[in-house]
Amino acid sequence: MVWIWCPGCDEHHAMPVTKPSNGDGVAWVFNGDEEKPTLSPSILVRHGANNTVCHSFITDGKIQFLSDSTHGLSGQTVELPEVD
Ligand SMILES: [Zn+2]
Repeated sequence: MVWIWCPGCDEHHAMPVTKPSNGDGVAWVFNGDEEKPTLSPSILVRHGANNTVCHSFITDGKIQFLSDSTHGLSGQTVELPEVD
């Protein structure tokens, strides 16, 4: 699992990940770089009482929120905060 701290949602998102060599379609492909992670495909999370939508790409340690996200960082690209 890879955990990210999502600055749009102010909470963690956890993704099951696999290596590029054995992508099986049930997990995200993780480049293995904890400093500058890249995950694919995009991450779509719905949560909370108001059904907040968080849709993002993580590329080279940055998180790009797509415009269908419903939180305050929709449409923006920000540095991914470090997580333990
Ligand atoms: Zn989020």
